[in-house]
Amino acid sequence: MQKENLKKYNEKEIESLFSNLSLPSYRAKQLIHWIYKKFVNSIDEISEFSKSLRQNLSERYYIGQIKLIKRTKSSDGTEKFLWELEDNEQIESVLIPDKNRLTICLSSQVGCPLKCKFCLTGRIGFKRNLMAWEIVDQFIQVSKLLQSEDKKITNIVFMGMGEPLLNFENLVDALWRFKNFINFSPRRITLSTAGIIPAIKELPYKAPPVKLAISLNASDEKTRDYLMPINKKYPLVELIKTLKEYPLKAGQRITFEYVMLKNINTSEEDAYRVASLLKGIPSKINLIPFNPWEGCKLKTPDYDAIFEFQNILISKGFSVFLRRSKGKDILAACGQLKAYYSEKEK
Ligand code: SAH
Repeated sequence: MQKENLKKYNEKEIESLFSNLSLPSYRAKQLIHWIYKKFVNSIDEISEFSKSLRQNLSERYYIGQIKLIKRTKSSDGTEKFLWELEDNEQIESVLIPDKNRLTICLSSQVGCPLKCKFCLTGRIGFKRNLMAWEIVDQFIQVSKLLQSEDKKITNIVFMGMGEPLLNFENLVDALWRFKNFINFSPRRITLSTAGIIPAIKELPYKAPPVKLAISLNASDEKTRDYLMPINKKYPLVELIKTLKEYPLKAGQRITFEYVMLKNINTSEEDAYRVASLLKGIPSKINLIPFNPWEGCKLKTPDYDAIFEFQNILISKGFSVFLRRSKGKDILAACGQLKAYYSEKEK
């Protein structure tokens, strides 16, 4: 009989599994604690369970894990983790230290179907959605590695490989596990999307209250159609309308990411158009100078152009930050993740 991975189960499923085995519900809580707080990778390590209970469980179940293939460190401290999944697919996560923060950038899919022009992950195409446990396990395995360094992850961003809102059900399941199993505050989780409108509408009613980031990247439909083909399905006007209706609590803002591409989306007119699009939306704008990759003809603008763009938006009253991407030397910066495809092509 094939053993089942206990990480595949959500809270309700674990509870019913234990009640089917005629075990008290506190046992289910203990299991969750050992997997999600103590990061054990085998049933045998759960010393709170009697030997017979461990044996009993081990006959039918195991605790799965994603397997670390490679850990690379950038000169700026950013680290990239390459993982192998049980079906031999591979994904990457990035760990970004910044002052008193330690942020993990998680992948939500193997590859990505969106084919944004500037993003390397899009180039490799889409393989499959990650299961909830594979999303959470990136956090668990990195946290386990960090234990020996006495470090803890403080923030989570869904800005790795994939479009999280095209993997809605598993994503929502993972977000609840972060909140309820790991006690990780949803306020320290940012979900970045290319703008999957129906999922943006559903999110506040289905998921814990995480922060929302939108990859804007253009100020008009034509340019956005070109850069992000998903714009043909979910156009900018509709996206902005949806965001104006998005339920935000007092003090909350939506983050807008804008990849700066030379001669494409960084003119003064673009800056003024961005200002008028976002008018009335509580927002924060992150400008990300394009991170180049081999085979992509797009270019990073000069800093003068970037500062001018930033200044126009500031003069219109927006909070605008220049995000200098970290980890470029190890291809860990925004848009540079492609996992094993890099190895295979060599
Ligand atoms: N699919 C999601 C999350 C992954 S991309 C989304 O679209 O939001 C995370 C961010 O990296 C996006 O804001 C994207 O615009 C940015 N990005 C992608 N490729 C980039 C590149 N080559 N240089 C700089 N930023 C890039």
